[in-house]
Amino acid sequence: MTTTVKKDKNTLLEQIKADILSNNICPDLARDAKNLVMGDGDINAEVVFIGEAPGKNEDEVGLPFVGAAGKFLDEMLGEIGVRRDEVYITNIVKYRPPNNRDPLPDEKSAFWPYLIRQLGVINPKIIVTLGRHSMEYFLPNQKISLVHGQAKRVVFADKKIIIFPLYHPAAALYNGSMRKVLIEDFKKLPKIIEVLKNNK
Ligand code: URA
Repeated sequence: MTTTVKKDKNTLLEQIKADILSNNICPDLARDAKNLVMGDGDINAEVVFIGEAPGKNEDEVGLPFVGAAGKFLDEMLGEIGVRRDEVYITNIVKYRPPNNRDPLPDEKSAFWPYLIRQLGVINPKIIVTLGRHSMEYFLPNQKISLVHGQAKRVVFADKKIIIFPLYHPAAALYNGSMRKVLIEDFKKLPKIIEVLKNNK
């Protein structure tokens, strides 16, 4: 039974990828990208992490968060006893922007409907946004400096979910004080997952 459900989810996720390609989303980014980086991890995960866009390493490998920021993310997951393959990790923009520049508003909105479809398939209970680019879509008009590390209950696509906004690991990597804040915020995640399980 589980296998059937899994297979259906895989098929649906493959269809989203095929649609991005056939609808020629962000052709300027697509032209220079080596890979369309869809996501990685457990497609039945209760927790989904959403970053901004693939960087050089991610573009090479075709997986999100495999470079320095990804190693830091893996470390923080390890600290709270969660393996990377127990969560799902993706980005709002799925092609690498040139020279790792910030994704443009048009690029984010072009990919947004596909991210919503991806989340509809995976159906997480908690969305962890990494950085302001993905946060601003789930918590509009909020400032990351004010809301980081605070779990917010929202209704998203007609479902009640929790948005947990965090600083981006790349921004925090070499910034001592932000790094400390991100590590502390991250440690709140097990409690949020626990509360959710008890409320089932
Ligand atoms: N930064 C992101 O936002 N996403 C990645 O996949 C890698 C670095």
